Formats: sequence, structure tokens, C-alpha cells
Amino acid sequence: MTDAPAMTVTRFAPSPSGELHLGNARTALFNYLLAKRSGGQFLLRIEDTDAERSKPEYTAQLKADLQWLGLPWDGEIVEQSRRGEVYAKAFAQLEQAGRVYPCYCTPLEIEISRKTQLASGKPPRYAGTCRHLDETQRTAKLAEGRKPTLRFKVPDSGRVEFIDLVHGEQRFECADIGDFIVQRADGSAAFFFSNIVDDALSGVTVVLRGEDHLSNTPRQLMIAEALGLPAPAYGHISLITSADGSPLSKRHGAKSLKRLKQEGYLPLALVNHLFRLGHSTELHGLQTLDELARGFDSTHLVRSPARFDPVQLEVWQRDAVHRLTLDEA
Ligand code: GLU
Ligand code: ZN
Repeated sequence: MTDAPAMTVTRFAPSPSGELHLGNARTALFNYLLAKRSGGQFLLRIEDTDAERSKPEYTAQLKADLQWLGLPWDGEIVEQSRRGEVYAKAFAQLEQAGRVYPCYCTPLEIEISRKTQLASGKPPRYAGTCRHLDETQRTAKLAEGRKPTLRFKVPDSGRVEFIDLVHGEQRFECADIGDFIVQRADGSAAFFFSNIVDDALSGVTVVLRGEDHLSNTPRQLMIAEALGLPAPAYGHISLITSADGSPLSKRHGAKSLKRLKQEGYLPLALVNHLFRLGHSTELHGLQTLDELARGFDSTHLVRSPARFDPVQLEVWQRDAVHRLTLDEA
């Protein structure tokens, strides 16, 4: 049985707000392998709509890291900070269709509402305060100097269902999802929005990403539906933990790729270790990237957390060094 459609188009979509670590390096690797296995494409998109947190030096570093790992991307890099016009069109389309509305609540008001809901034992979600404002009320809010965000009107009933490539059938009740922000007060696109718009417009067919994004997916599917855009298939991969099961942290040797490279680790050692984190395989021994691509199977992605094992990495490193020495002999 084959798990991937012909010519899979995948992508890696990092936010340039820090250095690449093993977690997102593995996400990049899996997407790369899935694409290459089908003779498809692996795209690179820089998710830099958050101007405060994004830094050009991180973008430069992550391109260098991907190249060093041996995961070149296909085609032009998409930089979200340059795509304001594309998003503006999509916002206008949703406004015309009545699927979004301006929200004038300040961050403080939202925070107070959140605390009140939590205090009464309710899950916090946007209370819908601005959903039914009329034109006069909107003008008054604007006159107070408030800068609106744009919120997506989540249907009051119904559900969003999809099949996750790792977790199987997923079902989310719309009533549990609050109206969410698609455009920030400064006019920039929120993550949910630009992420799905760009996946659809770039023809991405499969997205493998961290499990922390699973609950974002129903929102993104709603946006795609409202815009009449095709949505990719999603697979949410388990997070990497340290050997004792706690979150991978610096203390446990979670080093940036840049640092691992400086310490002399070989890319082949890293990709061989990452390939086996959260992905079960019958492949034994050190493999080249081409071999890994042939052996990658998204039906073999496992749900349980993947443990990073520094000792195992050392074993791969020794094998990779050995291979290098043979090749150079
Ligand atoms: N920029 C997001 C992240 O780095 C992308 C998530 C995704 O792959 O859809 O977490
Ligand atoms: Zn509001």
C-alpha cells in the first residue's frame, strides 16, 4: 500500500525567530523525504509576518542549515512579509462574503474576559463581543482611536472533520472554537491565515508539522473552505523529548544545528538519527538521503513522543565519520 499521492508537494515553513533545532530540522527532513520519495517538490516558505520577532539573520542561518543538512528546496523561497497584497485580496474576499468582522476589543479587554471565563470554569474563547456591532457602533469604536483586528466568524454549530496522517480521524465541534483573529491590528496576516493561504496557492498537498499545531488545523480548514481554496492533507508528528521523556531543553543537549555543526557532527549522522525519531523503519545501518527517501513512509509515523538519544547520535556519528573516511580513501 502506498501512503502518498503521486507528486507530493510538501514544504518547510519556519518562522525566523530563532535558530533551527533538532525538532524543526526533523520536520524539514520528513517533508523533504516525503516529497523526494514521490518525485515531487519540497518548498521553503519563511513565515515572517510577525515583524517584531522575525530577524533576517535567522532566515539566512536557516537557509544555510538546510543546505548543510543536504535538504535543498525547490523553486523560489516564499517570504510572507512580501505577500501583503495576496493576503489583502483574500481578506477582501472574506469581508465581501460576510465571513469576517472587525473586532475592536483591546488586548486588556480580551485578557479580562479570558480570566472571567477561566474563573467560572469555562474554557476561554473570544466572547463574540464585536460580532453584531452595527455601523454606528463601529464608527464610534474607530473614533475612540481603536485599531480593529479581523476575526473569522466560526459557525455556531457543525463540526470540522479531517483525517490526520498520524492521528487518524479528527473531529472538532465548531461551538468549541471561538471566533479567531485572521488579521492583526497592524494589518498583518495572522499565522492561521497566511499559513493556509500560502499552502493552497503554492499547491502544497501534504503538510507534516509538529503536534502542537493539531488544534490549529480546524481553523485553517475553515479558512480554506471560506475562500474556496484546496487544503493540504495534514500529519502532525509527535514532539521530540529528551531521553527521560521531559521536553527537550538546552539542559538536555538540545543544541542548534549551527552549534552541532561547529562541534563537528556530520549531516549524515544527524539525518540518520532524526529519520528514526517518531518514524518506525526496517532500514538498518547508515543510509544516504536518497535511501532514506525511498524508505520513508508516512504511515510509519508514530504517535508516541520521540526520544532524542545523544548516545545513539554518537553511534551514527561514528558510522558517518567511518563512511567519510572510506569515501575519501
Ligand atoms: N511557522 C510555523 C512553525 O514554525 C509553521 C507551522 C506549519 O508547518 O504549518 O511552527
Ligand atoms: Zn471584539
